[in-house]
Amino acid sequence: MTTPTQHDSFGRSVTYLRVSVTDKCNYRCVYCMPPEGVAARDHTELLTAEETAHFIRLAAGEGIRRVRLTGGEPLVSRRLIPLIRAIRAIPQIEDISLTTNGALLPALAPALRDAGLDRVNISLDTLDPEQFVQITRTGHLEQALAGIDAALGFGFSPVKVNTVVVRRLHQNVLGLARLSVDRPIHVRFIEYMPIGSSSHAAGAEPHCLPGMGAAPLPRSARADGAAGTADSVCPGAWDESDVVPSAELVQTISAAGVAAGIGALEPAANAPGGAGPARYWRFPNAAGTVGFISAMSNHFCARCNRLRLTSDGTLRPCLFSDDEYSVREALRAHDDARAIEIYRAALAHKPKEHGRTGGAGRFMSQIGG
Ligand code: SAM
Ligand code: SF4
Repeated sequence: MTTPTQHDSFGRSVTYLRVSVTDKCNYRCVYCMPPEGVAARDHTELLTAEETAHFIRLAAGEGIRRVRLTGGEPLVSRRLIPLIRAIRAIPQIEDISLTTNGALLPALAPALRDAGLDRVNISLDTLDPEQFVQITRTGHLEQALAGIDAALGFGFSPVKVNTVVVRRLHQNVLGLARLSVDRPIHVRFIEYMPIGSSSHAAGAEPHCLPGMGAAPLPRSARADGAAGTADSVCPGAWDESDVVPSAELVQTISAAGVAAGIGALEPAANAPGGAGPARYWRFPNAAGTVGFISAMSNHFCARCNRLRLTSDGTLRPCLFSDDEYSVREALRAHDDARAIEIYRAALAHKPKEHGRTGGAGRFMSQIGG
């Protein structure tokens, strides 16, 4: 049933809450956070699993029906499993999903399934083992691949793979898209966004090591060939020339698919579950699909249906927002009416569209991508 507060000021129905359970991560992806990681918050600043679940219960009363758990890396948080269990017990919540780098998925998949998690998205930016180490700084390709196997093996469905495309990395995008051919994997290519670059834009030191963020090296995204270097990518030095627009990528992957004998991409009739922002395509007779999320080139803001809750209890109307609405004190004071009031204020201030920069000085891992 539609509640009076489910719609924002532009008539969009907001039914989806992305919840960051931690800022911490076992990786240090070059485009997401600085090499030293992000400063750890005092644990008293973080919402407990009970506080988070209670807030989601209140938000469910306001129309939230789907919850995605993210971070940081949600699988490093001890709060995650109890939180999933508590969310599963909220009758209005129809879908619980998780975004993860996959490294800990083989170990945790049974407990996640048992707690009531429905589906997972796994981030994977390259199939080149050396480039994987360069991009994640601390990860190994076989961990992510084992994570995908575990997601499929434990029956999470649909299984989506998220790839951020950065032009100067020359990722082998056909190789990644090909993961969708034999198994029901939905590979989604995401345009690189300027999150964490606002302090740089304001003239402060960019969050990069010396030598990082050097002049961009614009080249075409390549379907095959040598991987590009990751050492000049950092969130403090995002550059427009590193964004590979989805329209270009569809052409690149499709042409490479033809050249490799797989065939051209065709619009996918049945997109995988979740009314998200991706546009889906498919190789002929493929088990999965190839999706494109045009966060920069083609705003999907008119269809945006989400709010975000950070691990310190701050509601964000938009990924790029500089506006933040903290519900932590209201939750700690057991003041449900105040927490709902703050929820409604955040909803009312959801912008019509994003301004391409922002983030209130937070890195992506501190917002919850
Ligand atoms: N650690 C988990 C993971 O990597 O899947 C969840 C958190 S991570 C911040 C969520 C997603 O945000 C990942 O798919 C990641 O690739 C993406 N991401 C991080 N920084 C980004 C950026 N600047 N532009 C686009 N996507 C980004
Ligand atoms: Fe960690 Fe995910 Fe950010 Fe990579 S993208 S550093 S895995 S939070």
